[in-house]
Amino acid sequence: MFKEALRPVWAEINLSNFDYNVKNIKAKMGEGREFIGVIKADGYGHGAVKLAEVLRENDVKTFAIATLHEAIELRDAGAKERIICLGLTPDMYADTIVEYDITPVVCESGNAKAISDAAAAAGKTVEALIAVDTGMGRIGYLADDLDYAVEDVKKISQLSNLKIWGLFSHMATADAYDKTFSHQQEAKYNKFYEALTAAGVEIPTRTLANSASIMEIPSVHFDACRPGIILYGQYPSHEVDKAELDIKPVMEVKANIVHLKDVPVGFSCGYGRKFIAERPSRIATIALGYADGYPRPYSAQAKVIVNGVVCPVAGNICMDQCMIDVTDVPEVKVGDEVIVMGSDGVNTIDADYIADCTGTINYEICCAFGQRLPKVYIR
Ligand SMILES: *Cc1c(COP(=O)(O)O)cnc(C)c1O
Repeated sequence: MFKEALRPVWAEINLSNFDYNVKNIKAKMGEGREFIGVIKADGYGHGAVKLAEVLRENDVKTFAIATLHEAIELRDAGAKERIICLGLTPDMYADTIVEYDITPVVCESGNAKAISDAAAAAGKTVEALIAVDTGMGRIGYLADDLDYAVEDVKKISQLSNLKIWGLFSHMATADAYDKTFSHQQEAKYNKFYEALTAAGVEIPTRTLANSASIMEIPSVHFDACRPGIILYGQYPSHEVDKAELDIKPVMEVKANIVHLKDVPVGFSCGYGRKFIAERPSRIATIALGYADGYPRPYSAQAKVIVNGVVCPVAGNICMDQCMIDVTDVPEVKVGDEVIVMGSDGVNTIDADYIADCTGTINYEICCAFGQRLPKVYIR
């Protein structure tokens, strides 16, 4: 239990493991490449400001986030590094890009002009990434619409107060075993890059690789890589070869038992009475619920570790609390630690397990736990 957490439940963020992952990813990326630390969504729920400090210790000079709020939070915390905003920024927020020296992503010359104009008004120059859609279907110039795109990027390259820093695209299936589509994206990316340079547009930085590509597609490492999920010690899918990269999970979720009771056969727990005791049972309550990112659809398969014993969650997870069947834990008492996600060295409940049980991916599990739980940083 941690006094400053103000709750007997917390996300434990292991900064030594984060540091270990950063170093191994750097080695995997190879020499001379820019490391773009993707710490959007509050560092996938782990706490972007704290993680930025560890990235800084490792000489990482570029961060990527998804929203202006996330960029401002880093700046307010003193970040001097380049901060790329991975989403598009509507014209009306151009002044914020300029004020906080954010590196925007653009894929339309009108939008780029609005940002350049805002920069001119402030006597600054903004550096930007050009987005090309090679197959993600999300944002960017359509790679196949080459003539239009080259003409429009040329207009951007002539803006007075916006400078093109790089060319960016995003992989849709790099984490799949079959890399056919990834190589098609790679080919489109290269073709787009070559068309721009042939048209006289200078592209100092090419960046395409996400975590899965860093692990398995060295031909797209180019000038800069954008590791996300692997920073946090999670693999991008079940299909990647884990032997390609050694990483350690950064987040664990823990709680202390706040309430214990012995109940008779037939006693029920929780909304909908999904748990009914079939034997005289001991039931513990912890103050963790679905509003903390503990998914309600996980209830039937949810398990935790108490004093070395794996115990099932009893009944449906509530918004802010849930119950655990600790009947098989000898001498269990109020205050005992409960591992909700993590390992005691023997048993492990990882983000992948929770994700598999709930039809999602480890990314979402970490993001969700990061929303409301107090974070405790350890090293
Ligand atoms: C989230 C994101 C990344 C990182 O993806 P991972 O799979 O977590 O490595 C990289 N680039 C862009 C554009 C993203 O949105």
